[in-house]
Amino acid sequence: MSSPNTSAPSAAPEKPYTEIPAPPHEQFETQEELLLFMRNFSHQHGFAFVKDSSHPEKKSYVYRCNQGRKIRQSSENSDKAQRSIKSNCPFKFSGSYHQKLEKWLINYNTKNSRHNHGPSEGPHTHPVNRRLSKEDLVVVEQMFDAGATPANIKQTLMKQHGGKIYQF
Ligand SMILES: [Zn+2]
Repeated sequence: MSSPNTSAPSAAPEKPYTEIPAPPHEQFETQEELLLFMRNFSHQHGFAFVKDSSHPEKKSYVYRCNQGRKIRQSSENSDKAQRSIKSNCPFKFSGSYHQKLEKWLINYNTKNSRHNHGPSEGPHTHPVNRRLSKEDLVVVEQMFDAGATPANIKQTLMKQHGGKIYQF
C-alpha cells in the first residue's frame, strides 16, 4: 500500500499575536516631532503610552506603556476608578535632548524595549486614531498631559472635525 504521505507535519501557526516591535532609534529636531513620531508608532502598533516622569531641567522625559505598572502615590481607592487591564508591561522609553547632537533622541534599555502583550483593542486602535494630523496630535498631547481620557480626547477631536473624524 503506497500512501501519498505528502503531508509533513505542518508548522503550527507562528505566533499567537503580532509582537509589538521596539521603536527605532530616531533623531528629531524637536520634542514635539519625537512625540508625534511615537504617537503614530504606538497607534500603528496598537499600544498607548503615558508620561512616567519628567526632568525638564535635563530635557529628559520618560514614558511607559499604559499597560505598565502605575506608580501609586495617591489613595488606594482611586485605583478602582480606573479599570485595571494592566499587564505589568515593562515597555518604557525616554525622549531626551542630546546636547552635542542638538537632537531629541528616543532611548530605552533592552529590557524595556518590548511589550509583554500583543496589540490591544482599544480607543487607540480605533480607526479614529489611526490617521491624526499634526494639529490633532498636539491637541491629543495637551489633553493627555492634562489627564484627559481617550474618550474625552476623541470627543474633542470629533467636535473640531464636525463629527467627520469617523469617516476616515
Ligand atoms: Zn505594553
